[in-house]
Amino acid sequence: MRPVSAKMESVASVDHLPNRAEIEALPDFTADDPMRLLVSACLLGVPCGVDGTSYGAPYPHIQRLLGLSNIAIVAFCPEHLVFGTPRETPDIHGGTGWDVLDGRAKVLSDSGHDWTEPMVRAAHAMLAVAQHNQVHLALLTDISAACGSQVIYRGARSEGMHQAGQGVCAALLIRNGFKVVSHRDHRSLCRIMRKLDPNVETDPTARDHHETDWYVDHLGPPAGYS
Ligand code: SF4
Repeated sequence: MRPVSAKMESVASVDHLPNRAEIEALPDFTADDPMRLLVSACLLGVPCGVDGTSYGAPYPHIQRLLGLSNIAIVAFCPEHLVFGTPRETPDIHGGTGWDVLDGRAKVLSDSGHDWTEPMVRAAHAMLAVAQHNQVHLALLTDISAACGSQVIYRGARSEGMHQAGQGVCAALLIRNGFKVVSHRDHRSLCRIMRKLDPNVETDPTARDHHETDWYVDHLGPPAGYS
């Protein structure tokens, strides 16, 4: 996929999600020629979260998708790579993942250590994995300072403030042309599921994260979305 333009880097847009036409335009995947999917390792149940857990994963809807025979999983945890597990919790201060990449914001740990440089390094490592494996899509854990693709914290999560936008690793993937879906984007996940298995029934109630009451109440509708 081609790199996104600067205009598409709007942090509150949902251009990073693959739309219906883009999903339908993907190849017809088979067990011999599967969809290659970059996945946040914790979504697979790998205990690589900051507290040494998988944050409650694996989730049934993700297990169902990843259990299909025509999908090839590329699992990766960028924070484990550079900070180890368990670790302090990183959050973005002064902007979003895009701002961190461009030197306008910082990543700080709970105790105030500047983790900006290693987080950017982790993002480039994740991008290299995506490019090496020529993944078709990324499925990432939302609200992480690394993997978040719809929502991240605004500053220290102990303050409890959220913002629309991407974490550092998700932003770099998107900047380099990869589409990203979060584990909370149920409408997009249903479309991907049907692409992989046309026998799957459509769920008309499925909503992406930005379409949920919580998102709209807290953050408002994303740019260009109605
Ligand atoms: S960095 Fe990403 S893969 Fe690792 S624990 Fe956090 S959300 Fe999961």
